[in-house]
Amino acid sequence: MVAVIPTRAASPDFEPPVMAAGKPTLAGLTRARLADALSAAGVPAKQLRMRETQLWKWIYISGVTSFDAMTDVSKDLRSRLAELYTLDRPEIVAEQVSIDGTRKWLLRLPKRGHEVKAPEIECVYIPEEDRGTLCISSQVGCTLTCTFCHTGTQKLVRNLEVEEIVGQILLAKDRIGDWPGAAAPNDGGLLPTGERKITNIVLMGMGEPLYNFDNVRDAMDVASDGEGLSMSKRRITLSTSGVVPEIGRWGEEAGTMLAISLHAVRDELRDTLVPLNRKYPIAELLEACRNYPGVSNPRRITFEYVMLKGVNDSLADARELVRLLAGIPAKINLIPFNPWPGTQYECSEWAQIEKFAEVVNKAGYASPVRTPRGRDILAACGQLKSESQRQRASERPGPVADTGGA
Ligand code: SAH
Ligand code: SF4
Repeated sequence: MVAVIPTRAASPDFEPPVMAAGKPTLAGLTRARLADALSAAGVPAKQLRMRETQLWKWIYISGVTSFDAMTDVSKDLRSRLAELYTLDRPEIVAEQVSIDGTRKWLLRLPKRGHEVKAPEIECVYIPEEDRGTLCISSQVGCTLTCTFCHTGTQKLVRNLEVEEIVGQILLAKDRIGDWPGAAAPNDGGLLPTGERKITNIVLMGMGEPLYNFDNVRDAMDVASDGEGLSMSKRRITLSTSGVVPEIGRWGEEAGTMLAISLHAVRDELRDTLVPLNRKYPIAELLEACRNYPGVSNPRRITFEYVMLKGVNDSLADARELVRLLAGIPAKINLIPFNPWPGTQYECSEWAQIEKFAEVVNKAGYASPVRTPRGRDILAACGQLKSESQRQRASERPGPVADTGGA
């Protein structure tokens, strides 16, 4: 069961922004699409490059949310842009701050096509003293149905657009004050001490990122652009449940760090935990890892292994894990199972996790256990599920329930 720990609500001054109906946003676009949007607003071809560079810096270095703030852009163009576009991020439906400083945002995206209801996704920020990791979603829901994952039970599924993926980074930076000169939120939540509050990005939120390949790749290009958000690709990690044919292509075209949701060392068990294994079994998956472009000791692949009591947590499993990964530059990440309402699984006993970790440690893998974060606000791995009807009143921002520092 999820521990019921009081959560702190959003900052007292938090008011969800209202999305301007109908107008597309320029915040989160690639350079090419930004140039197209400027051209559609009447910017002459010979000025396009210069205007695109100006807007790029305002959007991705300064983080402005209004065209009026773009002081080196002529007034006429600013008002023309404001007529046609916005700089909106995905709409924040709810913001929660865990007692450990983890922040979770429930976000609403504009409806598209035949969607009856505006889709919702979640995005999580995990601060530590020397780093801040943003966990972003790549799809609404997930078409895969890993049996231990809450997201896999969600029915509505669609791919996120590039701007919806980048938009998660922008709004997280807004909320934690990670723009030049911005103030930190006054809710007392822990933030890293360094200048940058978001140092790492993990594609470990909702969805299977390799099933939304092009949009996720373009979004990571925007995130890593040296004249903009400037995230290093070595600090961006894509996690996949094992879409084997796309792994090599991801390495070539995006070149981020890679994490593999392994979770079992025998096909028979992995077939049930991660049903995609029936299509791409363990041997093929590990072969794709061996061939991952750029894999080396300084650029190891992370293997995620969720600890499920009595299912995959025996010491024989641990020894087999080490044997399977021999020869692959690898890190092992043991994830204590995060329970969610209705799940059939339980997290392994702590003593068993320690014994398992010891086998892994002895084989030369350092500190392999991932500390669960934000469990009290269902923000931990695999707890994300956005249907708003699931949101109990107690999960929505409310009165400050706890002021204990993180
Ligand atoms: N779809 C991708 C990325 C999102 S899931 C993938 O599966 O890799 C991110 C990580 O959280 C994966 O390793 C996933 O297996 C793990 N996870 C899912 N549900 C979990 C749960 N309930 N407890 C702990 N980890 C979980
Ligand atoms: Fe989808 Fe990943 Fe959850 Fe599996 S673990 S259902 S691939 S989000």
